[in-house]
Amino acid sequence: MTICQKSPEVEALTRSLRRFIETELHPVEHTIETMQGPPDEFIRPLRDKARALGFYAMNMPAEVGGGGLGTAEMCFAEEQIGRTSPVLIRQVFGQVYLMLMACKGAQRERYLLPTVRGERNCCIAITEPNAGSDAASITTTAEPRGEGFIINGLKHFISDGDRADYAIVMAVTDKAKRVKGGITAFLVDKNTPGFTVGAAQNMMGQHGVRHVELHFTDCYVGPEQVLGEVGQGFPMMLASVSRVRLAQIGARAVGMAGRLLDLCAAYATERTQFGKKIGEFQMIQQMLADTATEMFAARTMVMGTAANVDAGIDCREQVSMVKLFASEMVNRAADRAVQIFGGMGVCQEAPVERFFRDARVFRIYDGTSEIHRARIATVLMRDGQGPLGLE
Ligand SMILES: Cc1cc2nc3c(=O)[nH]c(=O)nc-3n(C[C@H](O)[C@H](O)[C@H](O)COP(=O)(O)OP(=O)(O)OC[C@H]3O[C@@H](n4cnc5c(N)ncnc54)[C@H](O)[C@@H]3O)c2cc1C
Repeated sequence: MTICQKSPEVEALTRSLRRFIETELHPVEHTIETMQGPPDEFIRPLRDKARALGFYAMNMPAEVGGGGLGTAEMCFAEEQIGRTSPVLIRQVFGQVYLMLMACKGAQRERYLLPTVRGERNCCIAITEPNAGSDAASITTTAEPRGEGFIINGLKHFISDGDRADYAIVMAVTDKAKRVKGGITAFLVDKNTPGFTVGAAQNMMGQHGVRHVELHFTDCYVGPEQVLGEVGQGFPMMLASVSRVRLAQIGARAVGMAGRLLDLCAAYATERTQFGKKIGEFQMIQQMLADTATEMFAARTMVMGTAANVDAGIDCREQVSMVKLFASEMVNRAADRAVQIFGGMGVCQEAPVERFFRDARVFRIYDGTSEIHRARIATVLMRDGQGPLGLE
């Protein structure tokens, strides 16, 4: 199915990505799951292979050593990437935040370039125990001290916070202004006095990505640790969320549903009950057809929106709809997959059990389903269907 054409280069890229994922990653998914944070010696060879094949930091511009892919190209790639476990995705293909493009001067050599090369790991610390969906209400502060700032506060749910070499930390620099020029992003190195990794917060899925608290107690950072401009942390973050939501949630959800559909179709044609392949039962066929149809719808939304983004159209509201639909679609797909596999669906021997757990958080991070629904309805009532791309 083609909504926007793949160039021959992107066709070749997605084919070799698929091959790499099937031959190198599928065989280790189960092992990784049981490791609770795979050791570097396990990940490093896979990451090195991915880098050599041009699969590392594909989301970053070519001039800093990234893949330099456009939005639609990135979505094609992410669709393939979604066919493996989120733990392997983060660690093998890299979780390199677009915000790092705001690095200036010496920051480029210290943070941006080594991170794109896969030599340094980064995490992003926005969420706090009392500031989740309402990220603007963070209370971590960065008060001026000498030429720099003193950071105080607590972040939680920070993915890979313990293995990151540095964190991008959002802190309030002007309480009166808050999102309107009062929140700043800082680059804070591991081992900076006053910066410590706190308790691990074990999640139902995506085992192997560790989520932790980060504590900041009178943590001094110099002026050279400000990412971008003072007060511009929030708009800088918002500028990159659309691409994340479209590619890393929307396209990955389509890829995950595709993998589940393959597993289900294979199981339905091999598992026999009552003397028949279970795929001969119409109720099993219905589940397969529903997942295929919903996956097609999500894919159409992802690629259509990506093509519009590449054409320079402001698609923020459509991206909300894509994120909402694709994340809920993959959860329905995973639920049906469990049902089609019966007892094997909840047994850890089959990968569908893992996908079922891994998919759940797609509806929570990068804006919960409720936050996106609220946004879509608000825009509809205020501005009509135009901004939603419905006219
Ligand atoms: C696995 C995982 C990894 C994460 N990684 C990171 C990370 O690396 N860095 C980071 O900074 N954060 C991270 N987060 C945090 C994530 O961004 C938040 O969990 C998310 O923003 C939701 O916030 P919350 O959990 O505090 O839920 P809450 O905001 O407390 O929401 C609770 C419920 O209330 C609903 N709700 C809230 N506001 C509204 C509203 N206005 N209208 C209707 N319903 C509403 C929500 O939809 C939800 O159902 C991660 C979270 C998880 C689970």
